[in-house]
Amino acid sequence: MKFLADLHTHTVASGHAYSTVYENAAAAAERGLKIMAITDHGPALPGGAHEYHFWNMRILPKEISGVRILPGVEANIVNAKGELDLDNDSLSQLDVVLVGLHPLCGYEPGSVKENTDVLIRAMSNPNVHILAHPGNPWFPIDPDRIVEAAGRYNVLLEINNSSFVKSRPGGEEMTREVARAAFESGLDIILGSDAHLASLVGGFEQAAKEAAAIGFGADRIVNTDPDRVLKFLRSKRETA
Ligand SMILES: [Zn+2]
Ligand SMILES: [Zn+2]
Repeated sequence: MKFLADLHTHTVASGHAYSTVYENAAAAAERGLKIMAITDHGPALPGGAHEYHFWNMRILPKEISGVRILPGVEANIVNAKGELDLDNDSLSQLDVVLVGLHPLCGYEPGSVKENTDVLIRAMSNPNVHILAHPGNPWFPIDPDRIVEAAGRYNVLLEINNSSFVKSRPGGEEMTREVARAAFESGLDIILGSDAHLASLVGGFEQAAKEAAAIGFGADRIVNTDPDRVLKFLRSKRETA
């Protein structure tokens, strides 16, 4: 399987990532990617980028080294209402909006029901494209309800390569459960590298292996096809 888009990458602007836009883009080009989104952490995460960072992304070139660059964010959930750390005006200016649960951002881990409810409320925001790393050991969720809501709100579920490598030890099984539930219900998925270093951009090996083991072929993994990625992103903005 060949992956041509990575919609989840971080730069030095995230505070705990170590490469620049140009370093990431060069790495993406080397891996043969056609599309790379820059999705630094939103302002609520300690060390995350300031609101001005996202506002100013309009100065980024549309393309670097032949790779289409999409301005984006990995937004945080700041309360039990599922509100995000950028307002809808700012979010609607960005091409790719991921939402993920992280501790210390306002919403702290609750029960399975509370965590699931807050994610569903966040997914109901029409500016949100992708639910990042749903398999997070600190925030247990109900995979079936998450998959149902993703289908209802046209939000892609991400199978996050880092969840299987280093970032979220203990998250592997929850990630598999979400992927299995998505597979069973006919929902397509996207793989994300969640790279915090240029050499990890476009790295999907582990997530790809897991997705294939569940039964996902290229036709059901959106980031194998750049046109499909762009079509999906547009489908959200038309409804936003
Ligand atoms: Zn991070
Ligand atoms: Zn991330």
